[in-house]
Parts: sequence; C-alpha cells; structure tokens
Amino acid sequence: MERILQIALDTPLDRVFDYRWSGDEIPRLGQFASVEFGRREMVGLIVAIKQDSDVPLDKLKPVIAVRSQLTEVSPEWIALCAFAADYYQRPLGEVALPSVPKNIRAAKTTALDKALKKLSVPIKAGEASNPPPLNPEQQTAVDHIVAAQGFDTSLLYGVTGSGKTEVYLQAAAQILARAVPSAPAPQILILVPEINLTPQLQGHLQARFPDLFVATLHSGMAEGERTLHWLAAHSGKASLILGTRLAILASLPQLKLIIVDEEHDPSYKQQEGLRYSARDLAIWRARQLNIPVVLGSATPSLESWQHTISGRYTKLSLPNRAVDAAVLPTMRLIDLAKDKPQEGLTFSLISALKERLEKGEQSLLYLNRRGYAPVIACDACGWMSNCTRCSAFLVLHKNEHKLRCHHCSLEIRIPKSCPTCGNVDIQPLGRGTQRIEEHLQTIFPDARIRRIDADSTRLKGSAQAAFDTVHRGEVDILIGTQMVAKGHDFKNLTLVGVINPDTALFSQDYRAGERLFAQLMQVSGRAGRAAQKEGGSASEVLIQTRYPQHALYQALKKHDYPRFAKECLLERQQAALPPFIYQALLRAEAKELSIAIAFLKQAAELNVPEHITMHDPIPMTLMKMANSERAQLLIESHSRPGLQAFLKEWLHQLRQIKPRINWSLEVDPVDI
Ligand code: ADP
Ligand code: ZN
Ligand code: ZN
Repeated sequence: MERILQIALDTPLDRVFDYRWSGDEIPRLGQFASVEFGRREMVGLIVAIKQDSDVPLDKLKPVIAVRSQLTEVSPEWIALCAFAADYYQRPLGEVALPSVPKNIRAAKTTALDKALKKLSVPIKAGEASNPPPLNPEQQTAVDHIVAAQGFDTSLLYGVTGSGKTEVYLQAAAQILARAVPSAPAPQILILVPEINLTPQLQGHLQARFPDLFVATLHSGMAEGERTLHWLAAHSGKASLILGTRLAILASLPQLKLIIVDEEHDPSYKQQEGLRYSARDLAIWRARQLNIPVVLGSATPSLESWQHTISGRYTKLSLPNRAVDAAVLPTMRLIDLAKDKPQEGLTFSLISALKERLEKGEQSLLYLNRRGYAPVIACDACGWMSNCTRCSAFLVLHKNEHKLRCHHCSLEIRIPKSCPTCGNVDIQPLGRGTQRIEEHLQTIFPDARIRRIDADSTRLKGSAQAAFDTVHRGEVDILIGTQMVAKGHDFKNLTLVGVINPDTALFSQDYRAGERLFAQLMQVSGRAGRAAQKEGGSASEVLIQTRYPQHALYQALKKHDYPRFAKECLLERQQAALPPFIYQALLRAEAKELSIAIAFLKQAAELNVPEHITMHDPIPMTLMKMANSERAQLLIESHSRPGLQAFLKEWLHQLRQIKPRINWSLEVDPVDI
C-alpha cells in the first residue's frame, strides 16, 4: 500500500516535504531516507507517516531508499530538534540534519556501513582507578544529584580546584550502577566548553570506567571517527558521552544525566547558523526526559545564579579546594601608575617570575591577545595597518612575517616602509603573546618558555602535545590566551600573571565585565592546585592594572563571586537587561551600510505589538567585515513566550518581503 512520508531536509525553506513510498516494508518514524530534491539526491529524516498529502499524488516523487541499516532516532530526539528549530526560529531540517554526521547524510552508504561494522568490536577493558573519598560538601552534592526523582537542575558552584570533576565522576558512577541486565544501559552526557579540555577528562573517565565506551563528540574530529562515536551514542553502546556544545544535539536514547561543566562559558553559544545555547538546550532536554541536569562553575552565568536565588535551581556549594592544604592563590593588584612596565611587564611580575624559576616552579602569563602586536603604525604620517576588508586592524605576526586580520583571515606581507609616506621606521603598537614571549626570553635566557595560543597550535594534536609538556614539567613559563585559562589541572604552577586586562572594563558590551571576571577567576584558578611545598612559594596571582580600585578587581581580590554577581544583577535589573528582559537581535549585511539599515528599518515598521520594544537599527561594533557592512536591530520583551510568539509572526512577514539581503535572527543574543 502507498504511504506518504513527510521528510525534513536540510534546506532554508521553513517546511517539511512529502514523498511517496510504495515498498513492502513500511518505514519507521525517525529513519533516514534518501530522496530527490531539485536535481539532487539528499538524505532527510522521516518525521511523519501519513495516508495522504495536500499535494496531488501524481506530483509527489518517490522515496529513493530508506537507511534501514540504521536504527531510527527517537521521537524525543525529533522533539528536541523541533523545539530548537522553533525557539531559535530555523527550519527543522536545518537543525536535525546538520547535527548528524555527514556519512549518515551522504548519498553513498559505504562509510556508514564501515562505521557500523567497527561499532561491533568489543571494548578494550582494564583495571578501574580508585575514587578518592569525597569531602562532606562533595558528598552532599553527589547525594543531591543522584537522589533526584525526575527533572532537577542543580548549580554546582565550586571554586577552582574544589573537585567538581570528582562530583561528576561519582554521581555518574552511581547512575551507571543502576544498569539492570535485561534493560539498555544508562547514558550520561558531559559537556565541556572547549575541545582542548576533552583529552584530560576523557582520560579520567576512561580510567574510572575502563570497561565502558566513552564517546567523544566535537568539531575537531575526522569524519570517520565522528561517525563511529555518534553511532556509539545513538546505538546506546557508549555509556559516557563527552563533548563540546554540538554534543547536546546527539541522539542519546538512554540519557539519564546531563552535566554542563563551566556552564557560564560563552562557547556554549553557537555563533552562526542555528545560534543555540547548549546550556539552555541541556536544561530543556533534561526536563523533556525528566532527568537531572548539573551545571558546574566557579563563576556561574548571572542567568543561572539568578535561578538559584529564585529557587528554580538548587545551589550546591564547594567552597574550598579539594586537595588538603591547597588554598586559593593570593590576588595582588599591581598598579601600573606606580610600577611602570617595561615591554608590558612590571618589576613586581618579573621578580615573582624569577622567584618561581629559582624554586623550579611553573608560572603562567595570561594575555588574551595573540600575535606579536595588534597593529603597526607610522609615526610620521599616522598610517595604521587597517584591514581593507574589515573595520579592524591587521595584527602583526612577526615570526611568520605577516600582517593578518583576525576577522577575515586576510594576510599580507609586512611592508618594508609606510605605504602612505614611505617612512621606513614603522613600529608595532601594543603587544600580543608573541611579543611577550620574545621579551621574556631576553630577560630569562635559560628559562623554558612555551606559548600556547591559536597560532602555536594550528596542527591537529599540537595543543594536546603542548599541554602535556607543561604537565610533565618541561615548561617553566607558560604564556597563553584563554586557551590556557580553562580547566587544566597544572600541579606545579604557583604563579599567574595577568597582562593588560583593563580594556574589557570599558567595553560597550554589557556582558564584558561578567566575562572578564569569569576569565580572571578561571585563569587564577590554575595556580596553587597542589599543597604548598616545603620551602616552595605560596601561590599568587598578579594582575597588572591601571584601575586597582575598580569594583570588579576588588571583588576578584577577595575571590568574592557572590558579591560581584549581586552588584551585576542589581545593575542589570535597574537597566532592564537580561536576565530581567528577553532579547532577540536581527542582523543584516550588505555592500553598503545604508542598505542594511534600510532593511532593518523596514522590519522594525512591520506590525509590532505593544509589549515589544523595537530599538533603532544601528551599525554593528565591528561594522565592516570581509567587505560586508553590517547593522543590527535589538528587540526586547518582558515576556519570553510573548517574544517567541511575536518573532514567529514577524519572521513570517519578513520572509514575505523576500529581502535581497543577508539577514539572520538570534534569540537570546550574547554579543550585542
Ligand atoms: P575543579 O574541576 O573544581 O576545578 P578538579 O575536579 O580538577 O577541580 O579537582 C582539583 C584537584 O583536586 C584534582 O587534582 C582532584 O584530583 C583533586 N580532588 C578532587 N576531589 C578530591 C577528594 N575528595 N580528595 C582528594 N583530592 C581530590
Ligand atoms: Zn607614513
Ligand atoms: Zn579583515
């Protein structure tokens, strides 16, 4: 008998498509099927099976083939994608299909069949590492997590080094132990903000659970590997799934617990295409499945913190470092007006580095700016190295003899003289990690100095190799960007120096302060993770600043996140900013700014209900990027459902205009 299969396809059209099926075996909901779309063969997801269609039957094309070798995805997974599509205002197909590996969506099934075969290989088992006894606060946290009957959100608020990871591991162990022989084994999803943090945690997980398949999912994997790990998750073979934000959209039929480590981290927000927040989707998914979700952080997002105040989330606190006698580092604010820096480094910082070198301890210098210098300039005529395609400077990369734009990747050779006046004396202004590295090496010629940033770790595996050298003690001074600030458990590090953090204090972005505080707490947390050695130095963080009295630094000095959060939330409430208001941002880009602004004006004048605030269209902070000029329109409402309902209707009208312009909508924007 003929059936109509409704299929979601990865196209920008906000609808699903009907196809005919006349085979003997009726396909199942959630199977993948290949169909002809336009002139191409595409693989889509079966989202409904019906008897008839609004389209006349003879106009419908037949399904080419169903991927019957693959178990169907669950209705809950389809519902998750449908929710994300609805909430972030994208077509279902653009959510569901890109979140499965390419090999599953490919017209040819060779790679898929190969991965399926590999999946049946038994797991490589060993001796399990012993868990340490938990301290009372950790025990309370684990008890709470595993006692949850159904949906429960807890915020594990623990200072750096307080043993949050151990809480995750032991809660996971208890939930995994609920496996019964006749039923499929439980699955646990652990999200981390960065690819570089996966190997360390994967190691812990595999050591603790040697007979379980630990699947990893992140954007740095080769297609074959990704397919294998996705299938391991989808088939239930993997009990532990460790991944970056994209893993929140993995098919996990037996999911029983979700953990979001460093929940405040901005990288949980996807910044293109489907602009979702993996943290927010984690909470939705936990509610849908009626399971617990744990958000961990030393500096929670203000959104989550506010939920602990209102009682929606349970706060589980780990106020102390877990290792006996390991204490939080002392914070010192170095006043740049009093201690004048040479090549960016103050006397206080250099002395502190020297002490660590003499004692054989490690130091970390944190500067969130890669390259040698952010710009080069001509003193004679005022020329500066602007990117011709963006409203940004070309950054000097001295080692590679290049000027490079960090926004559009344009690269040019360093000019020998000023392109405007011919002056040969053009100079780098400001400093990046490379310049600090070069200068440090002249001060400490015998020190083993290592820089870790996006430039030094371009090759696959090189970041891991670099972190390993630090762990093995082969590095005296580590210099890095935020890549080195997160999560790493460096045992012999007793000094963190922070260079030039002040710029974020005066940013237009209202979240800049919150981010700076989180970054500085996090990087500070790399120091003093082991007990102070006999004769060794006490752990310290030195922050070089022009504004030592600033409230942010004063709170930081006392490791006082609650005080900082309280002040920020008060400000946000008074200024009617998130989390006290809900926002969406419409962005447009065109050859000329005026075209983008005109489109946004037109959009702002469509039918707008009373409860929606439309701001004026404005140029984006980085107005020009890769030769496009960009503008944005901010939309606000006090009601989340109200905003959602409006956006749906509004976008429908916008699409009717058929604008000849690139535009995109972001719900709950983070960069505005
Ligand atoms: P966080 O994730 O909170 O920054 P980690 O989980 O990395 O902290 O823990 C910091 C250190 O404390 C690690 O070396 C870990 O092995 C150790 N640790 C955690 N819990 C305990 C415990 N209960 N007893 C002893 N050491 C612990
Ligand atoms: Zn010049
Ligand atoms: Zn550029």
